[in-house]
Formats: sequence, C-alpha cells, structure tokens
Amino acid sequence: MKFTDGEKVLVVSFGELWLRGRNRGDYINLLRNNLNKQLEGEKYKFEPMYDRFLLRLQKGSDEERIKAKLSKLFGISNVTVSHVTKPTLASITRTARKMLRQVKGEERSVRINSHRTYKEFDFDSRDIIGKVLKVAKAAGFTPTTHGFTTDMHINVTKDAAFLTCEKVRGQGGLPVRSSGKGVVLLSGGIDSPVAAWYAMKRGIEPIYVHIHGYRDAEDALQSKVPALIKILSGYGSGSKTYYIPAYVLQSYSMKAGKYELILLKAFMLRIAEKIAEKEGAGAIITGESLGQVASQTMQNLSASQDGIKLPILRPLVGFDKDEIIRVARSIGTYDESIRPYKDVCSINAKNPATATQVKKMKELAKSVGLTGIVNRSLRLAKVVDGGAAARR
Ligand code: ATP
Ligand code: MG
Repeated sequence: MKFTDGEKVLVVSFGELWLRGRNRGDYINLLRNNLNKQLEGEKYKFEPMYDRFLLRLQKGSDEERIKAKLSKLFGISNVTVSHVTKPTLASITRTARKMLRQVKGEERSVRINSHRTYKEFDFDSRDIIGKVLKVAKAAGFTPTTHGFTTDMHINVTKDAAFLTCEKVRGQGGLPVRSSGKGVVLLSGGIDSPVAAWYAMKRGIEPIYVHIHGYRDAEDALQSKVPALIKILSGYGSGSKTYYIPAYVLQSYSMKAGKYELILLKAFMLRIAEKIAEKEGAGAIITGESLGQVASQTMQNLSASQDGIKLPILRPLVGFDKDEIIRVARSIGTYDESIRPYKDVCSINAKNPATATQVKKMKELAKSVGLTGIVNRSLRLAKVVDGGAAARR
C-alpha cells in the first residue's frame, strides 16, 4: 500500500469480533457495510486490513465529523488517528515533533511506545524512542511511564511509519444485524428508545412498530417518533417503521374499563409478532421494566404476552428510572422523548388493573375479537423505510 508523507489515517479496531471464530468474516463485512452506510457523503478512502480498517482522509475530509460518527457505531472498540510518514528515523522524529507541539496543556508528560512490523531498517525501536524523547523534552514534555498526559505509539512498517497519540473510544457492542432482526415496540417515551439502543448494541437490527392515536398516519409522521428513530439509526443500520393506528382496537376496548390498558399491550405484542413473522425477525423488544408504573407487574406481563411465541426481550428490566434517564441523555434521545405527544397509553391509564390473570386475558381477547382487530389494524399500517423516516 502506498502512502503519502503527511497523510492522516483513521485506524478502526473492532474488539469483540475476535470472539466470533468461524463467523468472523461475516461480522467484519457487516461492520464494513454499516460503517460505509453511516459515513455516506463523507470523504475518505476505505482500506480493509486483517484485523482493522484504515480510513484514509482526503483533501476536504471532515475529520471531526467522521470521528464523531465512528464513535457511535456499534462494533467498533476504538479509533486512532495516525499520522503517516516515511519509515526513516529523520521523518519519524520530524513528524513526532510536529504532533507534540500541537498538544495543548500546561502540565505535559509523555510515554513513547515503538513497534516495528518490518525490522530490516538500520534502526530499532530503542533508536526511535531515544530520538523522539529528545524532541519531546525540547517541546516541554516530561517522559514517564505512568500517569502520562500523552501516549504516543509509533509503528514502523515496510512502506510507512504510523504515529498516533489520539485514541477515540468506540461504542463497543456488536455490529447491528449480526444477531438478526428484532421488532422494537417504540412508544416515543423515554424507555423504549433506550431499550432499542441496548438491543442494537448486541447486534439486533431494529424494525420499529409504533402504535399511534391518530386517524391518519401522516400525523404520526409529523411527531417526534421519526426524529427518535433518526437518532437511533446513528448507532447502526435499521429504520424501517410500521405506524399502526389504535382506533380499531379502541372502538372495541372502550368498555373494558380497568383492562383497557392491558388489552392495548396484548394488541401491541400481537401486532409485533405478526410483523416479526413478515420481516423474519426473531424477537420482540419492549421498554418495559418491573414496578415502574402500576401496570408493570409480573402478572400483567404474563397476561399481556399470552399466546405470543417469540421471545420478548426487555433490556430495561433491571434499571431504575433515573438510570434509564441517564442513558437516554447520553445517547441523545432524552430531549425528543420528553416532548409532548398524544400517547395512546396515557389516554386510558387511570386505575389500570395490576394483577390480570391469564384466564381473564383470554376472555377479554375473545370477547372483543382481538385476532380480527389485529388483522384489520395491520391492513392500515403505514410503512416507512430509511431516508423517509429521517425527513422532518
Ligand atoms: P416508554 O417510556 O417506552 O413509553 P413507559 O414507561 O411509558 O415506556 P408503558 O406505557 O407501560 O411504559 O409501555 C411499556 C412498553 O410498551 C414501551 O416501552 C414500549 O415498548 C411499548 N409501548 C408503549 N406504548 C407504545 C406505542 N404507542 N407504540 C409502540 N409500543 C409502545
Ligand atoms: Mg410511554
């Protein structure tokens, strides 16, 4: 591979992919696709290596924006910024001096590490470290091996030397889709976007289902829901969304009194399962926790999922509300989630039943004709994919 002196390269490392043995190649391809999709419109040249990716920056590349995007993408453990130079002692020292001079801060200490993958040159790592330490001291750095403010790594290959002292932490996790697809019941509240994020973190590609309280799906498309999906899709691929109206159910469930809410939950899960079947998804994901609201009891969870065969994943089951809020803020969904919205659950949440028996649930489902309601509602679905969901 030919490099130009002074070129900058982002080195992307994968982390957990190592654990995957036989499927390694598939995982790397997935990550590569997700990465290229996420960086659409950015300027860079992609070079795959055995255990990492090189993104060579070009004239006009927006380095900061590319780093910010990479730091969110699931499956990446870290990104280092490398300055490329000729593999000679003089070039390495000159580049190191330039880089160290750009480091800001009063108290400055440095550790220099050197590694050679090509050893036929007439200098070794000790020579490199000796020279670079000299320029570091001249630039006001104290050399140390503990508690340094700057950690410089120098890697010498046959074609070029790579110098780096900037490491951007990645999000970790697995590349989205490496665990298959899952249907996410997304409300627009605080919890379900966080649940979606945790599912994506473990490699699930989300297919979103949102049950809305409008006659016309266009009104739901103007809501915060597409905005939340857009934020989540910054972490990996997947933004296909089914918007399903609640009015067919509501015209029957009104008389269900305190059971109206659990009927709505059962309706949502059945809708999700049907969509999962159509989309080839292997699980349903919800933002439910235990005891967070009066209706989230073990009995109600059991009753509402009666008849559902797919696994229902509830990533937030062990979270306190303030922990969920903290994550929501850090992943960027919180501000959208707290915007006012005509939420279908809040319409009838007064004194809901808290200990619904499965037997009672079966009676309710039968008396309102839940299966038929689900099928009719599915026919009213508005499906939005990719770019369209991001428009607003
Ligand atoms: P959230 O903060 O996610 O809205 P919540 O604390 O309001 O959750 P519930 O109203 O009991 O709790 O909803 C529990 C879960 O049911 C949600 O996390 C979501 O997965 C699903 N859900 C609720 N409302 C909807 C909806 N309108 N469309 C799709 N899924 C929903
Ligand atoms: Mg809610």
